[in-house]
Amino acid sequence: MRMAYHQRLLALRWRGIDRALSAASVTPAATPAATSNAGCRGINSKATAVGFAPPLRPAHPRRVGMQLGAGSAMTTTAPTCCGNVRRLTTSSRDFQEEEEMIRDTVSKFAADVIGPRVRDMDTESTMDPTVVSGLFEHGLMGIEAPEEFGGSGLNFMSACIVVEEVAKVDPAVAVLVDIQNTLISNMLRFWGSRELQEKYFPKLCSGSVSSFCLSEVGSGSDAFSLATKATLSPDGSYYTIEGEKLWISNAEQAELFFVFANVDPSKGYKGITCFIVEKGFGGVTVGPKEDKLGIRASSTCPVTFSGCEVPATNVLGEVGQGYRYAIEILNEGRIGIGAQMAGLADGCLSATVPYLFERKQFGGFVGDFQGMQHQVAQAATEVEAASALYRSAARMKEAGQPFVKEAAMSKLYTSQVAERTASKCVEWLGGVGFTKAFLAEKFYRDCKIGAIYEGTSNIQLSTIAKILRKDYAR
Ligand SMILES: Cc1cc2nc3c(=O)[nH]c(=O)nc-3n(C[C@H](O)[C@H](O)[C@H](O)COP(=O)(O)OP(=O)(O)OC[C@H]3O[C@@H](n4cnc5c(N)ncnc54)[C@H](O)[C@@H]3O)c2cc1C
Repeated sequence: MRMAYHQRLLALRWRGIDRALSAASVTPAATPAATSNAGCRGINSKATAVGFAPPLRPAHPRRVGMQLGAGSAMTTTAPTCCGNVRRLTTSSRDFQEEEEMIRDTVSKFAADVIGPRVRDMDTESTMDPTVVSGLFEHGLMGIEAPEEFGGSGLNFMSACIVVEEVAKVDPAVAVLVDIQNTLISNMLRFWGSRELQEKYFPKLCSGSVSSFCLSEVGSGSDAFSLATKATLSPDGSYYTIEGEKLWISNAEQAELFFVFANVDPSKGYKGITCFIVEKGFGGVTVGPKEDKLGIRASSTCPVTFSGCEVPATNVLGEVGQGYRYAIEILNEGRIGIGAQMAGLADGCLSATVPYLFERKQFGGFVGDFQGMQHQVAQAATEVEAASALYRSAARMKEAGQPFVKEAAMSKLYTSQVAERTASKCVEWLGGVGFTKAFLAEKFYRDCKIGAIYEGTSNIQLSTIAKILRKDYAR
C-alpha cells in the first residue's frame, strides 16, 4: 500500500508538472530545471523515490525576482533579487518517508507553477485557473479524502505540509488548499453520510472548489449568533435557506458551499445545522470580492442565499449539530493556518536573506554585519520553532490526543512569527524592501490575516487561557 502511494505520487507529480509546465508560460529559466530533473523519473526503485529530493532549483524567489525586475528601474540600479538561493527550509526530522516525498513534490509544483504567477495574481487580485487545475491534477485538493472516492488517502500532517509548502511561495493559494482539505473535505469525511460522500468526494477531488460559510455581518468571533435560517418544507423533503454570509474565502471559484444555518432559532446555537449547497441549486448569489490588504489572489466574497432550496438529504450529519461540527473542525483547522503562517515566514526569509549577501555597504555584505547576523539568526530560530509547534499539534491530533490548546497556540504563535519575520525582511532589504521589486512586502501584507480568520488572536488566547484554567485551577 505504501509503495502504491509512492508510485502514484510520483506518477502524478510528473504527469501533473509536465502538463502544468507545458500549459504554463513559465520563464525560460524555469524549463531547464524541469528538464534536468527528468532523469529522476524511475519510480520503481525505493532509492530513487527516497533520494528524490534533488535540491529543487530555487526557482521561485529568483524567477519571481527576475520577473518583477523586468522593465523596472530595479534591474539596473540594485543587485538582483536573490542570487543563488538555498532555501532556509525548516528541518523535517520526524517526517515519514511519504511526507518527505509530498514535501518535495509540492515544493517543486509551487516553485514552478505558482511562483511565476504570484505577483500578477496579487496585483490583479485573481487566482490563475492554471494554478487551480494544477492543484487538482496533483491530488492536492483531496489529500485526506478516501482513495475509493478519488482522494489521496493521506494523513493530516501531509495536508499541513502541502499548505506549508504552498504558503512558502504564495499564502493566498495556500488558503484555497487549506480550506478545501482541513475544513471541507474533513467535515464530509467525519460527518457526511455514505451517500453524500459518494456524491461529493469525487467532485471535491477532481475539480470543484468549495467554501466554508459560517461568518455573517453580525456574527464573527461570536459565530453562533448567526442569523441565516433554514426552513423545512411541509413535506420534509427540502430546506429553504435565507441569509447572507460574509468573508467567504474561495467563493468566486466555489461550486460547493458548506453553509451553517439555524433551523430553529428558539433553540439558540442548538438549532445550527450544516448544509451542503451546490451553486446550481439556485438562489445562491456570490457578491463582489473584497479589495484586501493581503492574500489578494484568494477571493473573499459575500454569499447570499435567497429562496435557496436544499434537499433534506444534504444536511451534513445531524440536524442541530452544526455548532459542534464547526467548533471541532475549526479546532483542527487552526493547525492548518499554523502551517500556512509557518510556511509564509519561511518563504519570506528564503526570498530575502540571499540579498543580504549581494548587497554591499561599507565595503562588505550587509548580511555580514553582526547587527544583521543576530537578527537573521533570531528570525530563523523563530521560524523553526513555529514549524515545530504546528507539527507537534498535528501529530497530537493524529495520535488522538487532546490538541485544542496546542492548535490554538500554534495558530497564535505562527501568526506572530510570520508578522515579525516579514516585517524584519522588509527592513533588511532597505529601500527596495518597501517596493514591489521583492516579495517581502507581499508576505508582510499577507501575514496579517493569520491573526484574524479561523478565530482572531484574542480568541486563541481565550481558548488557551480557558484550558490552562481547567488544568491548573483547583
Ligand atoms: C480574508 C478573510 C477570509 C475569511 N474567510 C472566511 C471563510 O472562508 N468563512 C467564514 O465563515 N469566515 C471567514 N472569515 C471571517 C473571519 O473568520 C472573521 O473575520 C473573524 O472570525 C473575526 O470576526 P469579525 O471580523 O466579525 O471580528 P469581530 O468578532 O468583530 O472582532 C473584532 C475585534 O474584537 C476582538 N474580540 C471579539 N470578541 C472578543 C472576545 N470575546 N475577547 C477578546 N477580544 C474579542 C477580536 O479579537 C477583534 O480584534 C474571513 C475573514 C477574512 C478577513
